[in-house]
Amino acid sequence: VLFGILMLNIDGGDLFVNNWIKPLGTIFVKLLKLIAIPLILASLIKGISDLKDISKFKTIGSKTIITYIVTTVVAISIGLILVNVINPGSGISSETVERLTSTYSESSGVQSKLVEANNQIQNSPLQFLVDTVPDNAFKAMSNNSLMLQVIFFTIFLGISMLLIGEEKSKPLKSFFDSLNFVVLKMVDLIMKTAPYAVFALLASVITSSNDPDLLLALLKYSGVVCLGLFFMIIVYSIAVYLITNSNPLVFLKKISPAQLLAFSTSSSAATLPLTMDRVENHIGVDREVSSFVLPVGATINMDGTSLYQAVAAVFIAQSFGMDLSFGTQLGIIATATLASIGSAAVPGAGMVMLVGVLGYAGIPEAGLALIFAVDRPLDMCRTVVNVTGDASVSMLVAKSVGKLG
Ligand code: ASP
Repeated sequence: VLFGILMLNIDGGDLFVNNWIKPLGTIFVKLLKLIAIPLILASLIKGISDLKDISKFKTIGSKTIITYIVTTVVAISIGLILVNVINPGSGISSETVERLTSTYSESSGVQSKLVEANNQIQNSPLQFLVDTVPDNAFKAMSNNSLMLQVIFFTIFLGISMLLIGEEKSKPLKSFFDSLNFVVLKMVDLIMKTAPYAVFALLASVITSSNDPDLLLALLKYSGVVCLGLFFMIIVYSIAVYLITNSNPLVFLKKISPAQLLAFSTSSSAATLPLTMDRVENHIGVDREVSSFVLPVGATINMDGTSLYQAVAAVFIAQSFGMDLSFGTQLGIIATATLASIGSAAVPGAGMVMLVGVLGYAGIPEAGLALIFAVDRPLDMCRTVVNVTGDASVSMLVAKSVGKLG
């Protein structure tokens, strides 16, 4: 961060960072994405086939999904309470609203998010389920944005392996066990470069950040989002303490490398290999649990994102002088839950799905332009919470099935 600030103040410094530093970070993120599909495939199949019996999978699966939904609803409720109590939209003058919307409404960033969002909104409500089922396993595996399809195929394969019995599935199981070891070694090697990559990623985020004046105007709104995210970390800590009896500070310390990576990449998917490593090897969650809970969580459980979406929607309404009824705000809980499930685990995805929440509550889409300037820093923070949420839920589920070492 300091290096980034220094380069911003040197003539041509931002160009230097862009040309010579940023590529190192980009290569690292590409390596993480490269490993994501093989990692999910190998570890999820190993996890399921190690279960030996299908009823265990049902228990883990249902506990995971229910806990994910509960944490998401808690996150949105925290966001709604804070944004209503603090009312950040009232502190922003109409000239600033005007300035922000005119600066960003034509920007290609906002426009492309609107186009992407509108494509998704036109789909049927069950499109999400339809999209989860691949029609070609290899096509799904060839595209990182189809992670949920890969998870579907892998679970299907793993369950079928359980059903045919140990003897018949043995050769396939040995293959995936061995693949799992190799992939974990690859993760290990990639992680050796992490400190340099995090340096590159953070320096380039700083040098490409927006006009500081505009960031300042949105300080109160950003503060509410960050406060909500902080409360979520406390919620996880309390849950970890009450349910697993572990010291939450130790938990946070052990997961912190994954949090830092989430912060610098803004992507839960890119962070997944490290989250798995920390949760399995440092926190002691059995691979049978983590191999299911974490990949599924990275794609569907985004507490930070859902909290941000609730705060952003109400903030935009407040700045435009709109009053949202209690009923509408309850509806925001439902839409933001769905929107966070539908958000891809990549940078900026939460903002695309926010359009759906705005549409539901009748808030003008133009409001996106209002919050665009601070989206990246908030994305970094909400991704930290998304990853922490997945890790804590994996601990809770592991504890409940006796798989927390
Ligand atoms: N970047 C977030 C993630 O990957 C998603 C979002 O909120 O934009 O978890």
